[in-house]
Amino acid sequence: MNKAVLLDRDGVINRERGDYTFRIEDFEILPDVFEALQMLQKAGYLLVIISNQSGIGRGLFKIEDTEKMHGYLLDELKKHHIHIEEIYYCVHHPETGSCLCRKPDSLNVEKALARFNIDPKKSFFIGDKERDTIAGEKMGVKGILIESNTSLVEAIQPCLAK
Ligand SMILES: [Mg+2]
Repeated sequence: MNKAVLLDRDGVINRERGDYTFRIEDFEILPDVFEALQMLQKAGYLLVIISNQSGIGRGLFKIEDTEKMHGYLLDELKKHHIHIEEIYYCVHHPETGSCLCRKPDSLNVEKALARFNIDPKKSFFIGDKERDTIAGEKMGVKGILIESNTSLVEAIQPCLAK
């Protein structure tokens, strides 16, 4: 089985602005993300992003906006030889419909584990909100709770210590 690091997006990969991020010009990749993800890849981890994007469910922006922005992210990562297996994102908003994919619910974690044959016991979920680590821990994935917009190189140390 594979091991993986599941990552929240806003505040972990790109700067948390305190507002919905859906335009490429607002999407600022945090300073040491490339280095941290390269280190994880080198250590044998698969990388998966799992994000809540309820602004879609609220009608504030469209799936196409998010897809375009994710295309930009994946291109930038590719330039640094980083491969993300998948970006799973929940489009729902609790006011407009219930679901099981919005963190702290774990459906997107379950999808990742099943699709990429990931052993939860060897894996981590890094997020800047408790709902991120809760979603992981529901499936037995160890959570690493970090401050928003902090150094990802520091945050991944527990993953490298094993
Ligand atoms: Mg976040």
